[in-house]
Amino acid sequence: MSFPPIREELRGLQPYGAPQLDVPVQLNTNENPYGPSAACADDIAASVRAAALTLNRYPDREHVELRTALAAYLSRDTPHGVTTEQVWAANGSNEVMLQLLQAFGGPGRTAMSFAPTYSMYPEYARDTSTAWVQGRRADDFSLDLDAAREAIEREQPSVVLLPSPNNPTGTALPPEAVGLLCKAAGDGLVVVDEAYGEFRRAGVPSAVELLPTHRNLVVTRTMSKAFAAAGLRLGYLAADPAICDAIRVVRLPYHLSAVTQATALAALRHAPELLGKVDELRVERDATVSWLREQGLTVADSDANFALFGTFEDRHAVWQGLLDRGVLIREVGPDGWLRVSIGTPDEMMSFKQAMAETLQMEVGR
Ligand SMILES: *Cc1c(COP(=O)(O)O)cnc(C)c1O
Repeated sequence: MSFPPIREELRGLQPYGAPQLDVPVQLNTNENPYGPSAACADDIAASVRAAALTLNRYPDREHVELRTALAAYLSRDTPHGVTTEQVWAANGSNEVMLQLLQAFGGPGRTAMSFAPTYSMYPEYARDTSTAWVQGRRADDFSLDLDAAREAIEREQPSVVLLPSPNNPTGTALPPEAVGLLCKAAGDGLVVVDEAYGEFRRAGVPSAVELLPTHRNLVVTRTMSKAFAAAGLRLGYLAADPAICDAIRVVRLPYHLSAVTQATALAALRHAPELLGKVDELRVERDATVSWLREQGLTVADSDANFALFGTFEDRHAVWQGLLDRGVLIREVGPDGWLRVSIGTPDEMMSFKQAMAETLQMEVGR
């Protein structure tokens, strides 16, 4: 055995993560460009101060107050309401999904998704020794429902991971898809990752509505994107209370610090303000998609706060051309495509200008 004695399947692998570069215009990780207001920051500071006086004690392991606040927030998306017992939170929805695989995946079990999709999913499977099966999306990045149902029935995964809207393509699942796939999965879980749910276009429903109809449905959300709190690290899910109970078995004790809980509660009190920019970002997104199309590029329809566009013979050259002009986007997705997060109008102006210059240099088109 060589040193350090890392697991065989991890040897030589690089850690996941977009480059964190100090660049004027950062449009690479789908963050919200608008930070919290001074009033919100003051409320967070006061809440954290109160929590600081109790730091000699472990935090509420069940984070009941926070789950109750999150349930109230989610209840706005469904006529059926969401209860505290249906909600579970952790340090980012990445941790929520890892916990799901710790509890429901494992050796002898399979998790699956449909590519191109979020590149962290196979890592949760690998890290929990869960077999990983990946189906394909159609050429327009939609899900071929018949093919998906067949694949699920054939592979019998214990967990299906489906982002809606999908990252990196921005594609939302049609309303009928979730129910159909929940049925196909039998007793397996169908996790609809709604990290970008708040950005969906009018008329696209949230899967939260379907929770009472499908006991194997899990909907995950995050405060990292629409909520403008990526630095907080707070993700959560809504599901049958029995699913939350199963996660309790694998979660680390006191996994959500008192500081995190206090901060998240304060941020939730400012939800209208933090979410206030979502409408503006959707307008900016639609304008960005149109502009890219006017440049003769192909752009995937987007229900999220980013756009996937292409195609380039040498996408790295285009990415580099933008970076040279102070604009950082993401080299991700199928070959030839690039993804840009939606920023402020000023940032998008810089992006367009850098794009126009880069395209003029005829980089690999
Ligand atoms: C950004 C993102 C998340 C959120 O991750 P956090 O750990 O909550 O920051 C989850 N799923 C997808 C598909 C994402 O793009």
